[in-house]
Amino acid sequence: MISLEQIREEMLKWNRFIIMGHVDPDGDCIGSLFALKWYLDSLNKSSLVLLTEELAEKYTVLGIEENDYRLFADYPLSAREDTCYIALDAGNPERLGEGAQIADKVFLINIDHHVDNPLYGRLNYVNPEKAAVGEIIYDLISLDKDYQMDRKVATAVAAAIISDTGAFRYQNTSAGVFRIMAELMKAGIDVYAINRAMFSNYRYSALKLLGEALSTLKVSADGKIAHLRVEQRMLEETGAELNDTSGLVNYARDLSGVEVGISFIEVDEKTIRVSFRSNEYCPVNEVAAFFGGGGHPRAAGCTIEETIDQAEEMVLQKVKEYV
Ligand code: AMP
Ligand code: MN
Ligand code: MN
Repeated sequence: MISLEQIREEMLKWNRFIIMGHVDPDGDCIGSLFALKWYLDSLNKSSLVLLTEELAEKYTVLGIEENDYRLFADYPLSAREDTCYIALDAGNPERLGEGAQIADKVFLINIDHHVDNPLYGRLNYVNPEKAAVGEIIYDLISLDKDYQMDRKVATAVAAAIISDTGAFRYQNTSAGVFRIMAELMKAGIDVYAINRAMFSNYRYSALKLLGEALSTLKVSADGKIAHLRVEQRMLEETGAELNDTSGLVNYARDLSGVEVGISFIEVDEKTIRVSFRSNEYCPVNEVAAFFGGGGHPRAAGCTIEETIDQAEEMVLQKVKEYV
């Protein structure tokens, strides 16, 4: 694998950039995309972030402006030779959503931290030791000795790191993470505001949905597996949206004695989004990969084209082999 220094050298040869993240984007994805975009802005490079879906409300804290991004749906994506494409936090090309169509046709730099990343870029920097892609973006930007990080870029990097470390609670929280956070504090970030935006600040409908989801919580395998579900009916009854389901899986994982927490989200009758979280030993990325997904050893996901009852049965059977 090439070094981050080489990535930087190759990247700076270009003047036009398209920066892409993954479907169902999380804080690491969004924070990394805009931190890199705003850094490139400071170098007077032309860049645009392309998103698979509209930004969730919580990202208001980042101060993203209308002109900073477009949705794939509104943008005539083509494989341009004058453009450097950058993929962030996307563990495989399919995760790029519409961006997958051009991934193998363009000069693509793939920057990621998923251990199972198949190195689908023209250039690849994949470092599973890093807690978040935001940490890699920080390292990349820090190679520029002339650059003074401003509060906005620092806030985006912090949101990325805070999101993927669960506010420094997960096993990926390293000394390096805290060193970076100390530097970001010096750049003026408001940690409280970022945490509140990322993890609390629920809308009424989202909190009602949490209540509904918790009422479905079940344990199995002598208390080592906990799972919950969100059916379409619950979204309709509470008025919550699909992106309000992110984070629900953590309640299953946080139950005392549990090794694997799982959430089953009914996107439609035959599309079930499954999230896995583990506490100590179960490599949930292996379980997710069995169903065509992927992720990290302690956080992974997949989508199953079955009914929610069938998906639940298949997944529980598989997870029981591991606990
Ligand atoms: P989530 O449960 O959606 O928060 O995802 C947890 C982790 O699993 C993230 O690192 C994702 O990148 C990864 N992941 C989720 N869904 C998929 C999928 N369908 N395919 C590959 N990786 C996934
Ligand atoms: Mn992500
Ligand atoms: Mn990530």
